[in-house]
Amino acid sequence: PSINHLDEATRAEMDRSVILTTLDSVLDQGRARSFWPVTMGLACCAIEMMACGGARFDLARFGYEVFRPSPRHADLMIVAGTMTKRLAPVVKRVYEQMPEPKYVIAMGNCAISGGPFAGSYAVANGCDWMIPVDVYLPGCPPRPEALIEACLKLRERVVHPEVAKEER
Ligand code: SF4
Repeated sequence: PSINHLDEATRAEMDRSVILTTLDSVLDQGRARSFWPVTMGLACCAIEMMACGGARFDLARFGYEVFRPSPRHADLMIVAGTMTKRLAPVVKRVYEQMPEPKYVIAMGNCAISGGPFAGSYAVANGCDWMIPVDVYLPGCPPRPEALIEACLKLRERVVHPEVAKEER
């Protein structure tokens, strides 16, 4: 029977004691607190990304410090640095090798739009024409604290996808 056919007392008891949710939203809570970034340092921004993993900025506080050299073991790509046109197919391939669900942070002006090299014959104007970006982090380079903020922003988007849709 549907919930509408239950008597009033049973429905009141269910309202009080049953948490209705989906398995996906429970899993999202876990994912959002344990991103595994694939190593994707492309240029100078990567130095700030690496600093995040060290003791001073301590990304481990938030559960995001396990950088993986294999895309098969990762669910987050932080595109950190200048993406040359020659490198673009490799970045795309690594992204495609990551299992779903997966997320992308475009770190720095180069990853967003080509930065100071925009329009160059050798540099792609950002990465979002090729892979979907969840969070844009501007700066040249952004500081490690800003990358931590971007990771926390991504956490919000994963836990509250309805808010993310409204922002778009
Ligand atoms: Fe380097 Fe600036 Fe480009 Fe980052 S945004 S990779 S710091 S030139």
